[in-house]
Amino acid sequence: LSQKLSGAFERLTRRGALSEGDVDEALREVRVALLEADVALPVVKDFIASVREAAIGEAVLKSITPGQMVVKIVHDHLVQALGGGAEGINLATTPPAVVLMVGLQGSGKTTSTAKIAMRLTRRERKRVLMASLDTRRPAAQQQLATLGQQAEVKTLNIIGGEPPLAIAKRALQTATLEAFDVLMLDSAGRLHIDDELMEEIAAIKTATKPIETLLVADAMTGQDAVNVAKTFQDRIGVTGIMLTRVDGDARGGAALSMRAVTGQPIKLLGVGEKLDALEDFHPDRIAGRILGMGDVVSLVEKAAENIEQAEAERLAKKMQKGQFDLDDLADQLKQLQKMGGIGDILGMLPGVAKIKAQMKNAKIDDKVIGRQRAILSSMTRKERKNPDLIKASRKQRIAAGSGTSVQEVNKLLKQHQEMARMMKQMGKMGQKGLMRQGIQ
Ligand code: GDP
Ligand code: MG
Repeated sequence: LSQKLSGAFERLTRRGALSEGDVDEALREVRVALLEADVALPVVKDFIASVREAAIGEAVLKSITPGQMVVKIVHDHLVQALGGGAEGINLATTPPAVVLMVGLQGSGKTTSTAKIAMRLTRRERKRVLMASLDTRRPAAQQQLATLGQQAEVKTLNIIGGEPPLAIAKRALQTATLEAFDVLMLDSAGRLHIDDELMEEIAAIKTATKPIETLLVADAMTGQDAVNVAKTFQDRIGVTGIMLTRVDGDARGGAALSMRAVTGQPIKLLGVGEKLDALEDFHPDRIAGRILGMGDVVSLVEKAAENIEQAEAERLAKKMQKGQFDLDDLADQLKQLQKMGGIGDILGMLPGVAKIKAQMKNAKIDDKVIGRQRAILSSMTRKERKNPDLIKASRKQRIAAGSGTSVQEVNKLLKQHQEMARMMKQMGKMGQKGLMRQGIQ
């Protein structure tokens, strides 16, 4: 697929803004990649539609093809759709915090219950009690007890013939009386969703009021992921997803499907059979895996960095020479406006925090920047290179030309003086020092 992709991208080499044609051509390939990663079809459709809208008209970075640019935009959208940053298990409640594990049979509930319990015990020093509510599969309760011994986590003693809801209530009572921090409930699963199971889990949920209801799902779950997630979300209500068997071949499309359908975060990943094979969820890693185009993404990131770096180096050179004229200020303001705030380029230079604060004090919002840019463009090139030329009559002309006031012109000139002074000071530290400190 990779080769096919790069082939399609090579053909798109025009620069400028992304046209509908560019976007559609690249998105056709992306669509195939998502389907191959087993993202459910309706989710793919919605996702592609939203990316398409965002991508058309976006600027293409230098040295990048439109196709590559689209992949980067898709990747960033994918990370966003998968939930941005990592989110841990929520235990913020009066103890015992109940964590209810739900999911189909064989999805990895029992293993995951023990994994999470072990992590909470060892890493967060929590007192955890586990209880298996699986009375259907023979030896299911014993399976959790055995895992509990390996993990050195307590399990509720087993009473033969006790129904699931009764076990859940007894577990909660025990956890409360014995002051456990966390109670993990491992529910029974089915091969397929059925009403009886849903009713049983709903009753358990009502009785134990879990702070977290984690849907455990196999990363290999393909197109069915949507149905599973939707049913559990509608009938039980989940607060998070744990994806298992991420160590296998699956590209993890189920992550996007389940996240999209439930609107709930993916919290953890199971990456093996062993009890320590548990990882936090990092959207960017899964996004890379789903898309399978990691090299294109890093290529575009690199190009963006190069451009910023070239900008910063140019500015650093001027600073060193003590030349920061009104043209440079105009460039800066343009950048600022483009980035909607003080940008990365200035942020890469040392000592810039001061200027940043100063600009904030001067209440530089979009409108102010717009007026300042108007003032600067009403000056002659000579005036911008040599601001000392700008005396009273010139100020009046500039104010009139830009539809502002002499006061505003003065303010801008003063601001520039202050910035130039600071930059000269920084410049004295020498460019080498500068590079070492911030730019590289
Ligand atoms: P349950 O029916 O939902 O309770 O599923 P189990 O916890 O009993 O797991 C079913 C099988 O999947 C067991 O053989 C586990 O060892 C295995 N398993 C669970 N999680 C993972 C995982 O993250 N990676 C791999 N490779 N196997 C797993
Ligand atoms: Mg089980």
